[in-house]
Amino acid sequence: MAHPTCLTDPSVLVALWQAWQDSRPGASGGHEEGGFVLREPNGSFIVERWSKGEQATIILSPHKDCRIGEREIVVSFHTHPNTGSDYLQEPSETDRRAVRDDPDLKDKFYEGELVISQKKIYLIEPDDQVSEVGNTQEILARD
Ligand SMILES: [Zn+2]
Repeated sequence: MAHPTCLTDPSVLVALWQAWQDSRPGASGGHEEGGFVLREPNGSFIVERWSKGEQATIILSPHKDCRIGEREIVVSFHTHPNTGSDYLQEPSETDRRAVRDDPDLKDKFYEGELVISQKKIYLIEPDDQVSEVGNTQEILARD
């Protein structure tokens, strides 16, 4: 199982949980939320959310050379909030292609894109492999 380093940081977990909640998970009415986990020059992590576009599409912030300013992008993420059984929970072919074909997500510190669904969190690794990070509730919803 994959486990990106930034998931050991409680503030990152809180921010991912918030993104999941903001995407209004359920059988209908959800919308994808996403963002980047960035590493500051001093080594700490911060989460920057993407803005929501029209019609449920999300717009990635500019991220030239896998950086935003002097912060390194270590992980990108988005949610799959629709829990209906006819919806794909795992990363789609389009999701995988988006990671694989993005020339600005190619630096060695980039660990891949997390896809957060109701039951599981997946990781699209930079080489296009999909692996499971674990159970969503266990990883994010810690009291
Ligand atoms: Zn997706």
